[in-house]
Amino acid sequence: MPAGVVIVGAGQGGFQVAASLRTAGYEEPITLIGDEPGLPYQRPPLSKAFLAGAEPIGDADLRPENFYGQHRIEVITGERVAAIDSHMQRVTLSDSTQIPYSQLVLATGARNRLLAIPGAALDGVCYLRTRVEASQLRERMMVAQNIVIIGGGFIGLEVAAIATSLGKRVVVLEARERLMARVVAPAISEFYRVLHAERGIQFVFGAETEAILGVANSVSAVVLRDGTSYPADLVIGGVGVLPNSELAEAAGFEVGNGIVVDDHLRSSSPNVFALGDCAYYPNRFAGGAVRLESVQNAVDQANCVAANIAGKAHKYDAVPWFWTDQYQIKLQMAGLSIGYDQAVTRGDPASHKFSVLYFKQDRLIAIDSINRPGEHMAGRKLVGSGSTLRPEQGADLSVDLKGFVATT
Ligand code: NAP
Repeated sequence: MPAGVVIVGAGQGGFQVAASLRTAGYEEPITLIGDEPGLPYQRPPLSKAFLAGAEPIGDADLRPENFYGQHRIEVITGERVAAIDSHMQRVTLSDSTQIPYSQLVLATGARNRLLAIPGAALDGVCYLRTRVEASQLRERMMVAQNIVIIGGGFIGLEVAAIATSLGKRVVVLEARERLMARVVAPAISEFYRVLHAERGIQFVFGAETEAILGVANSVSAVVLRDGTSYPADLVIGGVGVLPNSELAEAAGFEVGNGIVVDDHLRSSSPNVFALGDCAYYPNRFAGGAVRLESVQNAVDQANCVAANIAGKAHKYDAVPWFWTDQYQIKLQMAGLSIGYDQAVTRGDPASHKFSVLYFKQDRLIAIDSINRPGEHMAGRKLVGSGSTLRPEQGADLSVDLKGFVATT
């Protein structure tokens, strides 16, 4: 019997490869291996509806248990792959079980960057990435009074929105001078600063966290280098993630800011693909290799890998997009704004409905939309097709972006 496909990592991307292979008519064995307990689940609700207590944790399952049997997908959970032998084409699990592969897919994802300051190991210092972490954080949030969040990125702000809605006192300590600085323009950062500040959240920008203090081994405060101290009975680290590329590196595969793959998502080792948060891949929208952390990237890359394994040679070329929900505000981002030289605002931020369009040498490269789903969808098409929309047209509300897509 052929060895079939082994997928390492049972997150959104790993799951999607397995499902899409069956949809594509792939008949050989499929083994999906994840190190977390339980069935594959989606992460976005963890920092949104689940954390707010509005959704039970089981609702995050990507499929019910019988799906896997019906589709002949063997799921191994709570187990790590300890090593890959690319010459013998097999993986070894931490319990020494060996599983052969004809094609290997690395969907190993990323892990939280941990706070590297004194006191980081105290009880009450939490992170949020997995379902277990989300459950623990939810419990702690219910009883906490003073919450300090380190990092003003997606995790930090989504958690802050929920915490303040639950009536907690929330301080966000951000190392940079503005919110979500890595991905959005100053106009969007400022919109979110005001939105959160109006709901009582206190921000410190340019924050240099020095230490977390504790009493009887539990957190009591966070101290900055300038000596300022913020009382805390719960500290949440939201300072980014690191790609899980060590397994690939130990196997001798090429690794950069993640597992290096080509435009078909093939790694440097024959019959080995990588995708999602762990993959460092050539992206024409970035003008070079990038590693993206998003559901869209994981799902679309999984579909691409499945097509390649199923024999339909497929290059990965999707327009990146992202979203975040904070309060009743939805921010949708299309394209990559890296290296933009002009950003124009379309609409009035005070109305809570506007977009920011990013241009590089007069070419539209990205669009961020607040409560403007139509503009987001149009923006995806404009960015993907390479539009001739000029900045002054983008800023002009009388210019219909949808109409512009149709005429390009
Ligand atoms: P993130 O979006 O990269 O934001 C982390 C922020 O913390 C950055 O602004 C970072 O600045 C800052 N920071 C880093 N070290 C710091 C320090 N010592 N003190 C204070 N601030 C510090 O990462 P995240 O919010 O932790 O999210 C983790 C992952 O989950 C990401 O992959 C994210 O995309 C994903 N996620 C996505 C969504 C969504 O798309 N809606 C929601 C939740 C989570 P630098 O940029 O300078 O490092």
